[in-house]
Amino acid sequence: MTAAASAELLDFDEVIAKYEPVLGMEVHVELSTATKMFCGCANRFGSEPNTQVCPVCLGLPGALPVLNEAAVESAIRIGLALNCEIVPWCRFARKNYFYPDMPKNYQISQYDEPIAVNGYLDVPLEDGSTFRVGIERAHMEEDTGKLTHLGSETGRIEGATTSLIDYNRAGVPLIEIVTKPIEGAGARAPEIARAYVTALRDLLRALGVSDVRMDQGSMRCDSNVSLKPIGQAEFGTRTETKNVNSLKSVEVAVRYEMRRQAAILEAGGTVVQETRHFHEDGYTSPGRSKETAEDYRYFPEPDLEPVAPSREWVEQLRATLPELPWVRRKRLQQDWGVSDEVMRDLVNAGAVDLVSATIEHGVSSEAARAWWGNFLVQKANESGVELDALPISPAQVAAVIKLVDDGKLSNKLARQVVEGVLAGEGEPEQVMKDRGLEVVRDDAALQAAVDEALAANPDIVEKIRGGKVQAAGAIVGAVMKATKGQADAARVRELVMAACGQTG
Ligand code: ADP
Ligand code: MG
Ligand code: ZN
Repeated sequence: MTAAASAELLDFDEVIAKYEPVLGMEVHVELSTATKMFCGCANRFGSEPNTQVCPVCLGLPGALPVLNEAAVESAIRIGLALNCEIVPWCRFARKNYFYPDMPKNYQISQYDEPIAVNGYLDVPLEDGSTFRVGIERAHMEEDTGKLTHLGSETGRIEGATTSLIDYNRAGVPLIEIVTKPIEGAGARAPEIARAYVTALRDLLRALGVSDVRMDQGSMRCDSNVSLKPIGQAEFGTRTETKNVNSLKSVEVAVRYEMRRQAAILEAGGTVVQETRHFHEDGYTSPGRSKETAEDYRYFPEPDLEPVAPSREWVEQLRATLPELPWVRRKRLQQDWGVSDEVMRDLVNAGAVDLVSATIEHGVSSEAARAWWGNFLVQKANESGVELDALPISPAQVAAVIKLVDDGKLSNKLARQVVEGVLAGEGEPEQVMKDRGLEVVRDDAALQAAVDEALAANPDIVEKIRGGKVQAAGAIVGAVMKATKGQADAARVRELVMAACGQTG
């Protein structure tokens, strides 16, 4: 354990006995628009550094921003999905600061005039209940460039010898969603923080406005935590933990801050209002002390017109809102006739949409669930990727299931076909042919294998002849083994029965 990790922590139960936590979540989400917020540069993750840049997003003198309408549309849809009011008129603001990730030396953001205000999200919890989280605002802004610091152990700027800048991300449309203070969560605060971010991620994904990948930074979360003695109305001093980059980490960071702050308060100290960094091994450490709003010298952005969405447009967009993902899940669970546990496993595995898309290709929900929920989950774990990142599509899984249904593949052979698809060997039918996996139905070949098995097991043959038809299973098994599972088992059984003078 590092020094920071061993900071004084109070036992969680003791924290809860004496204090009430107040949370505030700030989530940044990159929109998956084709182009950036104020210029025509491509908005794509993972390209060669500094290949998606132009005078506008590089902040060259005289370049003027032009607002991306698709980004405003996404902002409005997000606001509506969060039950916010969409304001009739709002502006962008300049947030001034000098740092190399922002080549203009200011970020175009929204300050006191956000596009969406005063909403809420009913967050589903594990136990089936919901917890209402108030939404203070959702506003539009642009992302900054990405700095990579080399030469320091931590990857942070302290101690770095070189810093690299990639401006591909500068100007990517960003929506920041800020909650009202979350009170009354008590011992469930860490769980609620995580459940809120999970619900928000699922909602944004269902809206189709972002790919919401916390691991790639297209969804980033800061968690504010403060404690107050139970019964006190006034909030305590908060800390803001930055860039908590997985759902699990959201929970861990909140729990850690509650325990750390409580230890300070118990010792008669005061909590310092500051930004803290989350570390993957489960603790937070102090970062810079927070700039205040005055430091940023906000003023209305003079190069952009105000945004005044017509009520008609807002209502048109309201009509495009999808079914809430957790409501949809409940419906699918009923359609598929599965238990809460099975559904939870599918949700946790990220399999629900994949199963649903597979069923749309005309196969049974049972088979679709079995493939995604068992074999493919295992494959994803083995290669350390998300289920939906596996190189196999719902259409391909459905094709494999159909080959099984048609008796061309046994389940065992089907797994080899899927492995071939995952290895890039082509479509399922092709893999089956190339690998020679198709079930053998040719009677001549099967008869030879059956005769061999019968000859090797005269005692069993005697039993079958004597009427013990269940003994045929052993012969069928021997044939399947000899043909490496490629024989058509039903046909083999028929041949065995016929050879032993039995009809069924
Ligand atoms: P900043 O720009 O300082 O990060 P924001 O208003 O963007 O401030 O976000 C602060 C977040 O913290 C909001 O979600 C807000 O509801 C929440 N918050 C405010 N005061 C407290 C407090 N005392 N304890 C916990 N959360 C708080
Ligand atoms: Mg903030
Ligand atoms: Zn550009």
